Amino acid sequence: MFLARLGSLHALEQERRGASWTRWILSPLASADTIGRVFSLIRTEDLRDFSRGLYARYKRNKVLGRTFGLNALVLDGHESSTSFRRRCPGCLQRRLSDGRRQYYHRFVLAILPGKHFPYLLDLEPQRPGENEVGCALRLLSRVLKSYPRAFDLVLGDGLYLEAPFVSFLREHRKEAILVLKDERRDLLKDALGIFGGEEPQVQTEGPLTRRIWDVDGLTSWPALRASVRVIRSVESRSRRRQIDGRIETQTSEWVWMTTLSPDRASADKIVGLGHRRWEIENRAFLELVEYWHADHVYRHHPRAIEAFWLMVLLTLNLFRAFLNLNIQPVFRRRHTQLFFAQKIAAQFHLDLFPP
Ligand SMILES: [Zn+2]
Repeated sequence: MFLARLGSLHALEQERRGASWTRWILSPLASADTIGRVFSLIRTEDLRDFSRGLYARYKRNKVLGRTFGLNALVLDGHESSTSFRRRCPGCLQRRLSDGRRQYYHRFVLAILPGKHFPYLLDLEPQRPGENEVGCALRLLSRVLKSYPRAFDLVLGDGLYLEAPFVSFLREHRKEAILVLKDERRDLLKDALGIFGGEEPQVQTEGPLTRRIWDVDGLTSWPALRASVRVIRSVESRSRRRQIDGRIETQTSEWVWMTTLSPDRASADKIVGLGHRRWEIENRAFLELVEYWHADHVYRHHPRAIEAFWLMVLLTLNLFRAFLNLNIQPVFRRRHTQLFFAQKIAAQFHLDLFPP
C-alpha cells in the first residue's frame, strides 16, 4: 500500500480481487477494517526491529555514511493530523482563538542526513501534557540503546536550546548544533557583541558569499554549567533580475550554538551541517506528506497511527536506497523521484491485474 502510494486502506481494499495476493502474502488480502484493527493491536517494537535489521544491513553495505565528516542526527517535530471532532486517547488538544477545541497528533522524528539520502531512523509520539523536548528525550534514550554508534552529534531547531536537553547529550558524550534564537537572549547578545569587533572569514561559492564569525568559550548560559561556542553566518546571494537585468542581492543570517570544539569541527563545517538540517526539515516532510500520504489517518487509534508512520519510514528508507543505489545514475538523473514511484505503482497494478 505504501510503496504503491495508494493513500488509504479503502484504496487498498479495491485491489483485493487482484491475482497475486496469495502468491505475495500466502492468503487473500484482509479487509480495510481488519488491517486497521490489526494495526491498532500491533507491537510497534516489532516494526522497529525490522527497521533495526534494515539499518544493520545499510551500515554493513556502507550506505549511510557521514555528513561533513561527522555522524549527525537531525531531530524534528511534526504535526501529523488535526481534527475538531474525532479524538483518541493519544490526541493532543489546544484551544484556538475562536474558542474551538482542536485535536491533533505530533511526533518527533530522528533522521540521519547520510551520504546518499536522509535515513529515517525512528520516531516517538508526543504524549498529552508533554512538550517536544520531553518527547525528544524519550526518543533519544531509545535511539541511544538501539543505535549507540549511529551518531555523535544532534542537529536541532532553536526549540531544543534547553539546558536539560544539552546536558543530557553531554552526559551521553554526544555533541549538539542548535539554532540560536531570541530565547537565549543573553548568549545571543554576548556573541553578537563579540562578533561586532571581529573580522569574519569570507567564503565565496559562485553567486553566494558567506561571512562567518566564530566565538568559543561563552559562559552566558549559566543553567548549562559549561561554556559553548557560537557561529554566525551572514549570507548574500546575487542574481540578475529577469525583468530588467539588474543585479539583486538577497541576504540571510544564521546563528548556531554548538558544544563542538574548533578542533573537532571548523566553523564552515558547522555552517554546512546547520544548512543540511534546514534542508531536511523542509524537504523531507514535504515529500513525506505530499507524495507518501504520511499524514493520512489510516485508523484513528494512538498505536495504529504510530505503526502506520513506522511503515512509512520503512517504505521510504527502502525506496530511497533503491533509487540512489540500484538505479543507474544516468537514468536516475533523467527523471524525478516521482517518476520512479509511479513506475513502482504501475508495476504493482500490472502484477495484480495482468492483461
Ligand atoms: Zn487521536
